[in-house]
Amino acid sequence: MKEYDYLIIGAGLYGSVFAYKAKQAGKKTLVIDKRPHIGGNLYCENIEGINVHKYGAHIFHTSNKKVWDFVNTIVEFNRYTNSPIANYKGKLFNLPFNMNTFYSLWGTKTPEEAMKKIEEQRKASGITDPQNLEEQAISLVGKDIYEILIKGYTEKQWGRKATEVPAFIIKRLPVRFTFDNNYFNDLYQGIPIGGYNKLIEGLLEGTEVRTGIDFFSDRPNFELLADTLVYTGKIDEFYHYQFGKLAYRSLRFEEETLDYPNYQGNAVVNYTDAKVPFTRIIEHKHFEFGTQDKTVITREYSTEWKDNNEPYYPINDHDNNNVYKQYKELADKEKNVIFGGRLAEYKYYDMHQIVEEVLKRF
Ligand code: UDP
Repeated sequence: MKEYDYLIIGAGLYGSVFAYKAKQAGKKTLVIDKRPHIGGNLYCENIEGINVHKYGAHIFHTSNKKVWDFVNTIVEFNRYTNSPIANYKGKLFNLPFNMNTFYSLWGTKTPEEAMKKIEEQRKASGITDPQNLEEQAISLVGKDIYEILIKGYTEKQWGRKATEVPAFIIKRLPVRFTFDNNYFNDLYQGIPIGGYNKLIEGLLEGTEVRTGIDFFSDRPNFELLADTLVYTGKIDEFYHYQFGKLAYRSLRFEEETLDYPNYQGNAVVNYTDAKVPFTRIIEHKHFEFGTQDKTVITREYSTEWKDNNEPYYPINDHDNNNVYKQYKELADKEKNVIFGGRLAEYKYYDMHQIVEEVLKRF
C-alpha cells in the first residue's frame, strides 16, 4: 500500500479537475506544482481590485452542457463574450471575420456581396487543397483579410512563416456572414465570477497541495508515494529528452497599471501588423465589467521556448509531431502513469477540452 492513490504533478486545470474527481471517488491524492501558486496558466493576481491573468487571457467556452454545468457547480460564470478588436496600422476591425469586418474592409453590405469578394480572391489565388495556414486562410477569407488581419499576427505568434504553420490553427476561428462579433461559436461562454483562482481553489478544496515543489528534484521518492502518477508537465522532459526536445512557443508579458479607468474599451485588442512587436494588449478589468478607478493592461509578446521560460503552445508541425509520436509510444506502455493536458499530450487544447477529457476518464 502506498501513501496516496494519486500523485498529480501540476496544479493547472487538468490536475485540478482530476484531483476534484478523484476526491469525489474517495481517493487519496497529493498535488504538487513547481510554481509558488496553484492554477497553472489560469492563475490571476489581484491588482487594484482587478483579476489580472498573469499567464495570458483565458476565456472559457464550450458547447458541452456537462462541462459547462460542471464548472458552474464550482463557481458561477459571468456573461462575458469575447469579441476582440484588431488594430492594423491604426485602423480597427472586428474579429472574428464577419460582416462587420467585411464592411470595414470592402464596404460590402450583404452576405452575397461579401461572399463574392472572397470567392474572387480565392479563385485568383488558385488554391484548391490548402496545405498550410497561409493557404487555408486565403481560401477561407481571401487575400485582403489574410494580409491585413492574419499574416503579421500569425508570423509573430508562431515565429515562423505562415506557410510553415499548420492549417488547423486558423480553423479555430469562425468566418461568419452575419453581423456577429462573438469570437466563439460555442453555446456557453464566460469568466468565473471573482476570477479563475476561485475555480481552481474550488476544485482543489479538500485535497493536499504542495506548491514550490519540482517533481524532477526528487523523482525516485515521488514515484514511490502513489499508486498512479498523473503527469501534466512536458512529456519530453518526463523521458529525459531521449528522442530530442519538442518545440514550444513561449510568451513574455509587459504589465502596466494606469491611473485612469479605461485604456482601450475592450478586453482584447490584437495588433496584426508585423511591425508592432507585441501580438495583443489585454485590459483585464473588461473580462469582469470592472468599474475600478485604475486599469491594468498587459502587452503580450510571443517568443521561442527555451529551458528557462514557460512553455505555452505546442508547435504541432510535422517534425515535432513525429518526435512526439515516439514519446507517446512510451507513454502508452506505462501502467501507472496518466499523461494529461497541453504539455503532456503536446496538443493545443482549450480549457473546455481539458475538463471534458478528465470528466470522460471518470
Ligand atoms: N489569428 C490571426 N489574427 C488574429 C487572431 C488570430 O491570424 O487577429 C490566427 C493566428 O494564426 C493565431 C490563431 O489564429 O495563432 C489562433 O488564435 P487564437 O486567438 O484563437 O489563439 P490563442 O488565444 O489560443 O492564442
